Amino acid sequence: MFTTSKKSNRKICSSGFSLIELIVIIAVISILISIAVPTYLSFAEKIKEKACRNNCFQLEKRYEADLLLENAQHSQDRFLNFLYDYGEDICPSGGQVMYLNGQVHCNAHPIEDVGGSDGESGGVPVL
Ligand SMILES: [Zn+2]
Repeated sequence: MFTTSKKSNRKICSSGFSLIELIVIIAVISILISIAVPTYLSFAEKIKEKACRNNCFQLEKRYEADLLLENAQHSQDRFLNFLYDYGEDICPSGGQVMYLNGQVHCNAHPIEDVGGSDGESGGVPVL
């Protein structure tokens, strides 16, 4: 009684995407990737910088505690020996650390002036 032609249903279902639709999808995906990859890379670099600063801060406090416990003065050789005994990678980007003016600095992630007058430090970031 209700006979439908299976041939016409197969023809509709097997049509798939047209070439134009595929090109549009590939273009949209490439645009999304071109936005996402630089964002991810800058985010990963910020995470490495924060990890480096945290490691430098911890190293600085441990070195100062070591100086106080042994009642010794700072010298470059003493810091290098302490750094060798510390035995951890301080900078995830492979920077060299040094102790200057009571602070541990990394040459790959220099500390910017916190009280700068450029208005970029602190506060709400501007888009
Ligand atoms: Zn670093």
